[in-house]
Amino acid sequence: MPFSNNISLARDFIFDLIFPIECLGCGEQGKWLCGQCFKKLEVNSKQRCLNCKTENDFGGLCPECKKNFYLDGVLAAGNYEDKLISQLIKQYKYYFSLKVADILSDFVLFFLRNLNSQIILLPAKRTGAPRFLFKQNNYCIMPVPLHKRRLRWRGFNQSEKLAKILSKKLNIPLINNQLIRTKYNRPQAKINSQKRKNNISGCFQYQGDSLAKKNIILIDDVVTSGSTLDECAKILKEKGAQKVWGLCVARGG
Ligand SMILES: [Zn+2]
Ligand SMILES: [Zn+2]
Repeated sequence: MPFSNNISLARDFIFDLIFPIECLGCGEQGKWLCGQCFKKLEVNSKQRCLNCKTENDFGGLCPECKKNFYLDGVLAAGNYEDKLISQLIKQYKYYFSLKVADILSDFVLFFLRNLNSQIILLPAKRTGAPRFLFKQNNYCIMPVPLHKRRLRWRGFNQSEKLAKILSKKLNIPLINNQLIRTKYNRPQAKINSQKRKNNISGCFQYQGDSLAKKNIILIDDVVTSGSTLDECAKILKEKGAQKVWGLCVARGG
């Protein structure tokens, strides 16, 4: 087991001793989210075009909006306005509980299964759906990277753990530590949306094998403007990637 994982487990153990675990929904002891409250998490039944916000089934960018993006689309499992979801994400981010990572990944899997069953019932819907929903050939999972400095400060990359769990459970290979963040900048959440694109430009580099014929699923916890995901998509497509989709726990803002 990697060293950082041991630290996380030890940290989980110590936190559990100091702060007893309670369900964030109902207060039941022993779990961060009990089975009943897990069912209360609201899965998005509709997605949106990242640019014009028009609702659609699979989060793809409309043909017109696509012209300004490298990304093919973003799927968000839930909404950050859902209090339970935002509490879980905060709990995960600030305390890095591996148990919460499992809950969030289960939520994303539940959401994907929902989408998948729609495609099975209505095969015509396949058009416009990311192919990994029904055929996983040539797809890889990649976490949105953090800068080294931020990683040191936070101690972990929240997207990486989610990506690892999802890769295992979906049986889609993981590409890790090849897309890296080279520029340190202010957190995106603290600046307005117009400036986000400039702030993130030139922040990433890809230092890995060719991505020719590969499709990528980028994992992040929350998507807002999508400019971080789009900047990653730009770099990955420069290295030969075909389709690049974002897959996130929640849509914020
Ligand atoms: Zn509960
Ligand atoms: Zn659009």
